[in-house]
Amino acid sequence: MRQLIAGNWKMNGTSASLAEIEAVCEMVAGDPPNCDVLICPPATLIAQAAWKAKGRIAIGGQNCRAEISGAFTGDISAEMLKDAGASAVIVGHSERRQYHGETDAIVGQKAKAAWRAGLTAIVCIGESEQQRLNGHALHTCGNQINESVPDGMTAAATVIAYEPIWAIGTGRTPTNGEIAEVHDHIRACLTKRFGSEGQKARILYGGSLKPSNAAEILRLSNVGGGLIGGASLKASDFGAILKASSRNP
Ligand code: PEP
Repeated sequence: MRQLIAGNWKMNGTSASLAEIEAVCEMVAGDPPNCDVLICPPATLIAQAAWKAKGRIAIGGQNCRAEISGAFTGDISAEMLKDAGASAVIVGHSERRQYHGETDAIVGQKAKAAWRAGLTAIVCIGESEQQRLNGHALHTCGNQINESVPDGMTAAATVIAYEPIWAIGTGRTPTNGEIAEVHDHIRACLTKRFGSEGQKARILYGGSLKPSNAAEILRLSNVGGGLIGGASLKASDFGAILKASSRNP
């Protein structure tokens, strides 16, 4: 399975940061990695980023609203992201769940909106530190898969991102064994519910993934790539992760 390395810039970046996208595009054009490459900048930069990328890498959004249009001040629909040049959108990132009260049901509606617009939905799940300490990591992730991935999922239009909340932006990561255990469990949940589509869907790991740990994490069982926050902001770090992915089968 070809891995996907996706960068989530979060609320970082102005037009000056497009130079980082240009640098990633040049790296990819000069030495094509053996993985798919996606950068999700803030919504304000999507159109410019897509124009700069010229198809050398994919550009995505970080969130969308489920409705197509309407009186939802400040919100953006999946169709608008598509129109701006995005081919994917992250839904249900833990920061959206935490700061915007997004429930599994809302995340599921957003995933459907992404499909409706022709975007790949990157559905984020992951346990809190307390849930892990209580031994509930697998159960939490299984529930989130069941509740936030809608019926009709296809592997072409859906990517799951396993992001333990306590590993995001902290520099801490689960052990390799813990990552593999959760990814295997997610695979089993997806396969049980969606059959061969569940078997094929890519499952990304996210949470303090960086050049120094990328190679070992990206070669673990059922890890289909990475979702990268902090280390995606600099082309040199992101490029090193692309290379680490390329070296893995
Ligand atoms: C993220 O927020 O999706 C993420 C993985 O962040 P970081 O890589 O900075 O932990």
